[in-house]
Amino acid sequence: MEINKVYSGFRLDRIERIDEINGTAYEMKHEKSGARLIYIDSPDSNKVFNIAFRTTPHNSTGVAHIMEHSVLCGSRKFPLKEPFVELVKGSLNTFLNAMTYPDKTMYPVASKNDKDFHNLMDVYLDAVFYPRVREDAEIVMQEGWHYELENADDELTYKGVVFNEMKGVYSSPDSVLERQIMRELFPDTTYGVDSGGDPDYITDLTYEEFQEFYRVHYHPSNSYIFLYGDMNIEEQLAFLNDEYLSHFDAIDVHTEVALQAPFTEGKVVSYPYSVGSEEPTDNRTLHSFAYVLPDVTPEHSLAFEVLTHALLTSPAAPLKQALVKAGIGSDVSGYYLDSIRQPMWTVQATGSNLDKQADLQHIVESTLQDLCDKGLDKELLEASLNSIEFALRESDFGGRPIGLAYIIRMMDNWLYDNDPLELLHYEEALTNIRNGLAGTYFEDLIRHSILNNNHKVLVSIYPERGLQERKDAEVKEHLAAVKANMTKEEIDAIVEQTK
Ligand SMILES: [Zn+2]
Repeated sequence: MEINKVYSGFRLDRIERIDEINGTAYEMKHEKSGARLIYIDSPDSNKVFNIAFRTTPHNSTGVAHIMEHSVLCGSRKFPLKEPFVELVKGSLNTFLNAMTYPDKTMYPVASKNDKDFHNLMDVYLDAVFYPRVREDAEIVMQEGWHYELENADDELTYKGVVFNEMKGVYSSPDSVLERQIMRELFPDTTYGVDSGGDPDYITDLTYEEFQEFYRVHYHPSNSYIFLYGDMNIEEQLAFLNDEYLSHFDAIDVHTEVALQAPFTEGKVVSYPYSVGSEEPTDNRTLHSFAYVLPDVTPEHSLAFEVLTHALLTSPAAPLKQALVKAGIGSDVSGYYLDSIRQPMWTVQATGSNLDKQADLQHIVESTLQDLCDKGLDKELLEASLNSIEFALRESDFGGRPIGLAYIIRMMDNWLYDNDPLELLHYEEALTNIRNGLAGTYFEDLIRHSILNNNHKVLVSIYPERGLQERKDAEVKEHLAAVKANMTKEEIDAIVEQTK
């Protein structure tokens, strides 16, 4: 294939060899529909297809998550109620799942069998571009939320697949903590709301809002298509063009993730989470000290993974030890997250109490300051670097297809209009970091990204007895009022709909 030539409507813009993964990348654009495509040619027989959309909701109705569920409930070519359950029965796939992230929704499949691979691709493409849910509001009611009423005299309740799923998620303190961190760090962007859906807001979703979200986000111009492995790429491009993309004209999309302006001052906040009315509350507070990191390059991302491992995960982990020794909590951990436009880093403690907030902040900051002043343990950093490097070279992804690990990594740049291939070329970054061990590379990074950075929040969540029961009682009261205001005809219609 040659650069600037058009293959089945796709203009080939770039060809690049990537030694790190023993593959060659072809970056293309479908001229009529505006779809982006990357193909990685590799001798791997475990082929991967993925279509992703940049889904950036403005509220916590869970519209992106409900969309993911709903498009999989039948389509033009596959009008079954649950095509995946049916079609996947005889499939030889090695991976098949759909995932809603804070800013994107991905539909990946992998298979070693050509025919199977082609079929699954067809099912996914038909699902996202021609779903039955565009004409059938009942699918959104089933997957999102609806009023449930089996008999006219019963109590009115809320039901829905995602509504119930997210009620489960929100009953876990870890999820409550994670949600509050994102809300505090990114109050003005899509990360401040929950793309999965907050049960308190899911019932605000209307079919009109759902349809509008589909129109804006599920267009080829807002899509990112990925193919990987040993295949006849020209055949795949012809199929994509003839069956799907040629039916669409490019549109202007405005789904970009906005940048959160940095804070001038850090914040310290606390929120309750619910425990049963008889449950103990002592030592059940969770803390998270979280930072939005400035000016992160792919090299910094790798360095932060090394740093997190060294400070918080490794057996010697000095930051973890300092916090445990001071009795801040029974367990200390932390993570670095770069699958969002502005990466974040956090130190967490569980099994704690609310009055430990100030101590935690002081110990994190003074320990890091001390480590910078005295210099970090080089052997510790080197061991962590080796461990991160090993994981990177293996691209071990819990036994999942390696091509899937590549696209998940690439999306961390591609979705924000940066070079997606840059993240697969890691040799140079590794060399720079290794050379940095001799100097003050990591100390400088800690000073710049953490100690001198005010875009930070210390979030604590503490147990409150009976919180959920009080919330449930409010919802019950609200629903009783809703029902009291309904006419007999409206009530009968809901009984009919429930059936
Ligand atoms: Zn779900």
